[in-house]
Amino acid sequence: MLGSHPDSCAASPCRKVARAPLDDKASAGARWATFTPEHVLESNSHTPRMVARRVALASALLVALANRPLTVLAQGTPPAPPPADLLQRVRALGLPSSTDRLTVYFNRGHEAKAVRIRTLVQEARQFFADSLGLSPELAIAVLERSTWDRLITWQPYGIPGVQGTPPVAFLPATDDNLAANDALSLEAAISDTARRLITASGRTWTEASKRYVDLVGLHELGHAFAAAYGIDVPSKWFNEWLATYFCYTYLRAVRPTDAKLWEGILQGYRDAAHPEHRTLEAFERLYFGVGAQNYVWYQARFQQQVQRLHDALGVEFLRRLKQAFPRGATRVASREELLQRLDAIEPGFGTWAATMR
Ligand SMILES: [Zn+2]
Repeated sequence: MLGSHPDSCAASPCRKVARAPLDDKASAGARWATFTPEHVLESNSHTPRMVARRVALASALLVALANRPLTVLAQGTPPAPPPADLLQRVRALGLPSSTDRLTVYFNRGHEAKAVRIRTLVQEARQFFADSLGLSPELAIAVLERSTWDRLITWQPYGIPGVQGTPPVAFLPATDDNLAANDALSLEAAISDTARRLITASGRTWTEASKRYVDLVGLHELGHAFAAAYGIDVPSKWFNEWLATYFCYTYLRAVRPTDAKLWEGILQGYRDAAHPEHRTLEAFERLYFGVGAQNYVWYQARFQQQVQRLHDALGVEFLRRLKQAFPRGATRVASREELLQRLDAIEPGFGTWAATMR
């Protein structure tokens, strides 16, 4: 979702989101888009104006996802912004919980899935503790639709997110959710390459579409890891790219079959989506406003360069990136300058970016 720097939403693209194409089918795609840690982790420090923009963004997203006419947005009450005290609100529900270094809260009947997700998140946290010295405080909530709709009012059921201070990662407890259903809908149009990747993951496309939602949650955590590590790059497309770099680096190291699944689903999006927008310029300008499925297509294109760079540098890239873009110390004048500076870390960004057209 968003740039991990405080200005990410002060830029004009967020306002333009309010004019997001509304003829897009409701799609899981937007969930990547939904709210990233920045939207969330930094919410305490936001000015009222920035919060208002976020409310507008949330409204636009919900409308786009629900495929409703814009008049609903104009006439309705905008959803409340994500709360900074989400963890307290989760605790106040009195849900069962299970703790093993991290605590997961869950609706009764979903303990097995909750523990599975906690294990995944804990592994990722441990991987980045070992490799980068990162150990951000985190909690997890695995929620049924009814609880979600009461608590996560700014985001549709099934779109994983990370919100609050300290951050709470929230994921759906059941498979009848937007993200899974959108991936499921692609199956007829995916390539043999996508099918082979999914087969290599040991699952069917249907099973993979459901599992993939948990991995979207890891992408969301990628934003939290990037913020905790102190990487600060003022670019929406690059911060989306970076969240996936964290997610994918962990998967390749610890969960190689899930890495195949992630590659396969995103290959499927590249095969089956028909994007109206294809350039980095359009993404930076429109962001979620490119439309839900088009948004996932961008994420799928980012994955291609993530994979190339990961094969070259793995976790070392993150160390170099932090040196090049430490929090609070950098500003980038243009996309060209950003690409040049990234190419100075490891050549290939400029070449890849030139294919985004
Ligand atoms: Zn994201």
